[in-house]
Amino acid sequence: MSEARQERRERLVELYREASTCTLCPLSEGRTNVVFGNGNADADLMFVGEAPGAEEDRQGLPFVGRAGGLLDELLGGIGLSRDDVFVANVLKCRPPGNRDPQPAEIETCRPYLEQQIDLIEPRVIGTLGNFATKLLTQSNVGITRVRGTPQVHTLGGRTLFVMPLLHPAAALRTPSLVETLREDFAKLPDLSTTPVPGAEPSPVLVSAEERAADQLDLFG
Ligand code: URA
Repeated sequence: MSEARQERRERLVELYREASTCTLCPLSEGRTNVVFGNGNADADLMFVGEAPGAEEDRQGLPFVGRAGGLLDELLGGIGLSRDDVFVANVLKCRPPGNRDPQPAEIETCRPYLEQQIDLIEPRVIGTLGNFATKLLTQSNVGITRVRGTPQVHTLGGRTLFVMPLLHPAAALRTPSLVETLREDFAKLPDLSTTPVPGAEPSPVLVSAEERAADQLDLFG
C-alpha cells in the first residue's frame, strides 16, 4: 500500500478515535455508540445520510437497519457493494426517538464530516435526503426539487460532484419512490468517471486492481 494511502487510513482512524469519545453536544448523553461511518477510505463515491437510527446506534455502524438494506440493494443495482464506497452521516450520534437533527447539532458535528470528506477525497458525494443535501449544497432548496441532478461544489478545498438523492427511508415509506431512487443511482457510475468541471485532476492513488485486492473494512 502506498504511503499516501497508509497515511489517509491512519488519519481516519485518529479522527474515528476522536469522534468516538465526543461530548460536544447533548446527543452524546443518549447514545450507545458513535456512528462514525465505514467503507472504503479510497472511495471515489461517498454517501452521506442524516443520522443513526436505533440499529445503527446499537451496532455503531451506518445504514444497517431497513434503510441500509435498501441502500445495499440500490448499490448492487449499479454493480457496487458497501466495500466500494464510504458511508457516513451528518450526525454521528442518534437523536432521541429519531427526531430531526437540530441546527446546533448539525453545526457542532459538521467538522467531523468535513474532515472525512477532506481525507477520503471522493469525486462524488451522494447526499441521502434533505439534511445532507441542504448541508452539502449549502442551500435551503429541498430534496424533491433538486434530486437526480448533479451539482458541482467545493468542499474541504476540493471541487467535486454532489448528487442529491432521496433518502432510502422515504422510499420505504412510499414504495413508488424506489424506482426514482434506482434511476438516480443509475447516474452515479458515469458521474464517478466524469471530470469535475473546474477541478484539478486528482492523482491516481490506487489502481483498480489494487483497490479490488485491498478493500478497507475500516471499522467493521
Ligand atoms: N438513516 C440515516 O440517515 N443514516 C443511517 O445511518 C441510518 C438511517
